[in-house]
Amino acid sequence: MAELEGLEFGKSDFVLLDEVTMEQFMENLKLRFDKGRIYTYIGEVVVSVNPYRQMDIYGKETIEAYRGRELYENPPHLFAVSDAAYKAMKRRAKDTCIVISGESGAGKTEASKYIMQYIAAITNPSQRAEVESVKNVLLKSNCVLEAFGNAKTNRNDNSSRFGKYMDINFNFNGDPTGGHINNYLLEKSRVVQQQDGERNFHSFYQLLRGGSDEMLKSFNIQNDPAAYVYTKEGAAIAVSTSNNDRSSHKAVMNALEVIGFSKEEINSIYQILASILHLGNVQFESDGESVQIRGLDAVNLISDLTGTDKEIVSKSLLYRTVATGGGEVIEKGHTEHEACFGRDAFAKALYERLFGWIVGRINAVIEVKDYNPVLHGKNTVIGVLDIYGFEIFDNNSFEQFCINYCNEKLQQLFIELILQQEQAEYQREGITWQHINYFNNQIIVDLVEQSHKGIISILDEACLTVGKVTDTVCLDSMDTKLAQHPHYTSRKVSMVHKRPLRLHLSYSVEGFLDKNKDPLFQDFKRLMYNSANPVLKEMWPDGQLSITEVTKRPLTAATLFKNSIVALVDKLACKEPYYVRCIKPNEVKSPVLFDEARCRHQVAYLGLLENVMVRRAGFAYRQHYTRFLQRYKMTCEYTWPNHLMESDKEAVEIIITQHGFQDDVAYGQTKLFVRTPRTLFTLEQERTAL
Ligand code: ATP
Ligand code: MG
Repeated sequence: MAELEGLEFGKSDFVLLDEVTMEQFMENLKLRFDKGRIYTYIGEVVVSVNPYRQMDIYGKETIEAYRGRELYENPPHLFAVSDAAYKAMKRRAKDTCIVISGESGAGKTEASKYIMQYIAAITNPSQRAEVESVKNVLLKSNCVLEAFGNAKTNRNDNSSRFGKYMDINFNFNGDPTGGHINNYLLEKSRVVQQQDGERNFHSFYQLLRGGSDEMLKSFNIQNDPAAYVYTKEGAAIAVSTSNNDRSSHKAVMNALEVIGFSKEEINSIYQILASILHLGNVQFESDGESVQIRGLDAVNLISDLTGTDKEIVSKSLLYRTVATGGGEVIEKGHTEHEACFGRDAFAKALYERLFGWIVGRINAVIEVKDYNPVLHGKNTVIGVLDIYGFEIFDNNSFEQFCINYCNEKLQQLFIELILQQEQAEYQREGITWQHINYFNNQIIVDLVEQSHKGIISILDEACLTVGKVTDTVCLDSMDTKLAQHPHYTSRKVSMVHKRPLRLHLSYSVEGFLDKNKDPLFQDFKRLMYNSANPVLKEMWPDGQLSITEVTKRPLTAATLFKNSIVALVDKLACKEPYYVRCIKPNEVKSPVLFDEARCRHQVAYLGLLENVMVRRAGFAYRQHYTRFLQRYKMTCEYTWPNHLMESDKEAVEIIITQHGFQDDVAYGQTKLFVRTPRTLFTLEQERTAL
């Protein structure tokens, strides 16, 4: 058995703190980070601090040390929770999920990859080919999704710009048989614009720097990101990592092949990327009366690459078809501003649909096929959620609003599930449950999502109102309707959504309505649907609708997002959850700097102190009698080296009584419940002193 850490590394579980205060919490977190102990528990929750350096703790030996072990038998580690989730799935046929949260750069994606690697390493001992192939596809899918969904931001060089939930299916042997990926809210605005110091999605630079000469030639693309409006911004930043882009391109091509994308499909993917780059270079000019495209080179290239008619490409960029009230269909010329808006909306939609299509194709490959429950037994699942954490910038917009809403929802689920789990365990073990007061996040969730009254409803209403409704008019409407809400205040240009612990999130409403409406002219959809390229056509089924058939009340971006998050939460709620809470130690990617104020902030909004309190309010610690006995039998003369009792439970009672801890514990059916950490702490000390 691997040795537990010594006391000089601080408390390996925050429930063992002498007092649950922010000061003690931070002191322990910092001590452990300084000593290179990046993982710490709160009960079964893993708190992880990004080490910003390669740690030698993920190798084969470590995997073996954690395999099949109980949580408290080894130092805290991601592998321990992965194993706990796996054991619950295999032994108790439970569907489980591992929810990873934390802000950008905190280490969520790295954690999710280690978790998948661990699961891949401990399964399929007999090396069956079909299982190996499923594992391979699951692992390779990360590489593809990162290329198309990640980008360099000012916070993280490899920031996931989408949320990802992956189910891994297992057969009765506990071997992976397939999976399914859900993606959430890809940050498509990045396709057309990036902030200073940031880049577009990796995929573009990988194509430009890593694509073969033949490919670039056939797409009429130069191998220089500075040549394209959409990648120009990030071109210079990319130089230091240009080799990286090149080798990543190879890896992605290989992954696409391994997953099973055909040559034509792979070519289509890159054709679409190239079309988007050309599209970004389309310029308009106006003579005061009408708008024209400046030079038709880009248009010709787009039409070649997308298998569409040149004339119609030009027309879609300059006009939109509208149905008048009388049912008449007319063509209306764009203003220059509208033409630019339309072009960018088209580029964003092309990318978003490409991403969605790639995910769909991967899903088709890893979908569990020919499953027969009678023959194969229960098909169980482990879900892994890697989703953006709270984003609190100086200027928060619609995207932050959606992301933070999602986090409020997950936080609510966390509270409910952790409490529920505690309650269920007490009941199972026959121990009286005492009620705990905690902040119920539902009130904040309702503020956002309640029908008719919530912020999203008010936004949607404003979007559907005919006539000039501006962002500020919409804010006024919120102010009137939400004035009484204890968690809402308005600051005239922004709305503030108050969280417990005096954390206030404030959003500027500028651009909310446009982003929520997310309009794309039907002409573009029809253009794509009529493409000669079957892959493109498949991505645009809604292009077959004529203008009179198009629904006037499409679901808004916020509502679509809300629906997907509600579905996600429902999916998670019926699984046994395991949590990884990631913390980013500093803003400068330093392996030695522990920025106390930044960390404290994260501990606060992740609700970690509350978590420790909940965990301690009842019984902070619990262990199976046999395990407890094994660990502490040497601290009592009646149990060392062997005991003469009828059961391990009785032997444990002797140890406890001899130490005078009887008032601090309760005896469950299979486990000993310990109220205060002090008891275990003393036993641990005695054990190590021997
Ligand atoms: P985002 O929300 O922006 O996607 P994230 O939480 O997914 O952020 P990661 O991409 O996982 O963050 O981590 C950011 C960087 O931190 C990694 O590229 C890596 O350099 C470093 N890092 C994170 N976790 C570890 C780890 N366990 N060991 C070593 N380095 C790590
Ligand atoms: Mg990530």
